[in-house]
Amino acid sequence: MANAAHQESLTSSLDIPAIEKQEVAHNLLVDGLERRIAGQLSVIIPIAVIGWIASQTSNSALWIFLGLQLLTQLAIAVSSQWLRRAIETGKSITIRKNLWMMAEASSGIIWAAMMLDVGTLIGGSDAVLTTWVTILVTMVVSILLAAPIAGIAFPLLGGFTAAGAAGIFLFDKDFSGFAQMALIFMCVALFIIAKAVNFQAHKSCRAGIEVERLGQRLAEELRRTSWLSQHDSLTGLLNRSALQERIAELDDMQTPLILLDIDHFKQINDSYGHDQGDEVIAAVGASIRETLDKAAPDALAARWGGEEFIIALPSCETSSVAADIAERLRAAVAGLTHPDWPARLRVTASLGVADGPASAFSATFKQADSAMYEAKEQGRNRVVCARDGGGKAPRVPRAA
Ligand code: GH3
Ligand code: MG
Ligand code: MG
Repeated sequence: MANAAHQESLTSSLDIPAIEKQEVAHNLLVDGLERRIAGQLSVIIPIAVIGWIASQTSNSALWIFLGLQLLTQLAIAVSSQWLRRAIETGKSITIRKNLWMMAEASSGIIWAAMMLDVGTLIGGSDAVLTTWVTILVTMVVSILLAAPIAGIAFPLLGGFTAAGAAGIFLFDKDFSGFAQMALIFMCVALFIIAKAVNFQAHKSCRAGIEVERLGQRLAEELRRTSWLSQHDSLTGLLNRSALQERIAELDDMQTPLILLDIDHFKQINDSYGHDQGDEVIAAVGASIRETLDKAAPDALAARWGGEEFIIALPSCETSSVAADIAERLRAAVAGLTHPDWPARLRVTASLGVADGPASAFSATFKQADSAMYEAKEQGRNRVVCARDGGGKAPRVPRAA
């Protein structure tokens, strides 16, 4: 109960859609079709046993019923396969399912007729007993196998009960009261058991679908939270800790860093509002990724915080290449426009570049930070590279 309540609260908190009755019925039908193949293979055994008894007792009526039963089994096989194909191809299944039900009901009727005929025609007690037991076991197994699909189990049981009851009460006065009662009790018991199995099958099928959906939803949620734990939700770039983790994996690889800070961002917020400021941050993030995709696809880009971004270039061979990429980033930010933005809104950024091994990230970061402040001091909207040893750095000449 506690598990069911837990599952229910998970289902509602994860917004899992309610499971429709038709969906459960459909799944049970698909499973039932699979089981029917096994059920039909097992019917070969009673048919063979009864055939052997018929040959021993030279009972021609039994041969006729066996022939009819074989034809009915063929009809079940064909109609169920036809139905299966309709389900696979998404065609309407009503007619095919009704044909299958009729074939199952006919099979029940023929089994009951066979049972009665054996009682009246064969006479020999061993043959009668063996045939009766074989037919009863076959019926019980078939009905239990079909029980999850009420539309199949009940026609089969109904056909068997109707033909058996009609035969015993109307045409065959030789049957003892005991046999009559036994047959009726057996059919009632089978009905009750089939109903209970059907109920359980619906319940577990519904639970199975729910667990499958929960699993899919949880996997999705896990992917989403894992992405969110590594990325900045506003720009989609890496977040600070994810970038540091990736850089730590690079060991001693030479990894130039570029620090990019949007110029006078506070003024953008103050003049056009915080939402507009967010849009600018998102647009700068997108232009960084777009520029890097062309210039340095292996580059790692992260939002360091606020309006500051950091780019690590593990595949970059020289710092002059890093400076060149920084200049392309600067130009991309300076060229940002959007039809919905206020006409007077201009976005620029100052960038600092420094080179060093990934293992000395903190030291390289400090140098890039100083270079970036140097760029601010020199008038913003420019790139400054840190000198070896971190001293004052020259600005990079703008691309033409
Ligand atoms: P400078 O050119 O010297 O970098 O000036 P600045 O105005 O860009 O820098 P400052 O550090 O004075 O201001 C940064 C502002 O960025 C302050 C803060 O309110 C704002 N900010 C930080 N994070 C966000 C954010 O996620 N969204 C918005 N809209 N504003 C943010
Ligand atoms: Mg700034
Ligand atoms: Mg800043």
